[in-house]
Amino acid sequence: MTPARTALVTGGNRGIGRAIAQSLADSGHQVAVTYRDSPPKDATGLHPVRCDVTSAADIDDAFRRTEEELGTVEILVASAGIVHDRPLIGMTEDQFTAVLDTNLTGAYRCAARAAPRMLRGRWGRILFVGSVTGLTGNAGQANYAASKAGLVGMARSLAREFGRRGVTVNTLAPGLIDTDMTADLSPRHREELTAALPVPRIGTCDDLTAAALLLTGESAGYITGAVLPVDGGLSMGA
Ligand code: NDP
Repeated sequence: MTPARTALVTGGNRGIGRAIAQSLADSGHQVAVTYRDSPPKDATGLHPVRCDVTSAADIDDAFRRTEEELGTVEILVASAGIVHDRPLIGMTEDQFTAVLDTNLTGAYRCAARAAPRMLRGRWGRILFVGSVTGLTGNAGQANYAASKAGLVGMARSLAREFGRRGVTVNTLAPGLIDTDMTADLSPRHREELTAALPVPRIGTCDDLTAAALLLTGESAGYITGAVLPVDGGLSMGA
């Protein structure tokens, strides 16, 4: 039988993080999900904890609450992320660094808080939610792509640091997924972006859960430093 673990999912109050959190809870784990403003109302079976990942103090509080209420965090899914899209000519330094601070440094802060106890326990799963954009780049997303490419480098470095102690670190690379983040895309733009894909549709949050469960699961102890695209074939290129 799969042992019940304690998981913390940043950005687990909605979107991709929420779907991953729910699938972990459905698999029998105890799952804390972060929110910034108000706790999700319909989070049955999940444990909301307030946390802004740009604050190390918030992260420490969220981990402390999770540890007190559920136990040591053994599975960390860093899904909190933002976009500030615009061409480089026109992008302010603040727009660049804000995206890095949330998407990359936020994930670093969480991993740094989680790792010592995982290493002491000789078991842990860290999963960064990257993006296919971190592999391919995307016009108008220099900040976002840099943050997501950075996650790959960080995951692979941590994989090398932690592998001997039973802690794996991997990156999920979703393609275009239907969430609040992509809600502004017009139906025509969605059609343009997805029509040529091998799987010619936008992805759903549920499309990501099988990969997330695999990479955070008991049987994935020999998978580390991996980047797993879940993108309908987008990252293969034309
Ligand atoms: P959403 O916009 O639906 O959700 C974003 C999540 O991130 C929310 O839970 C939000 O919390 C949280 N968040 C943002 N900033 C912070 C912060 N400073 N501290 C804590 N939480 C924060 O986006 P998605 O679900 O689509 O995105 C989830 C992840 O997946 C992101 O990392 C994104 O880059 C990545 N991704 C998304 C793709 C897509 O097509 N949708 C494709 C590839 C990757 P709050 O409710 O408090 O705002």
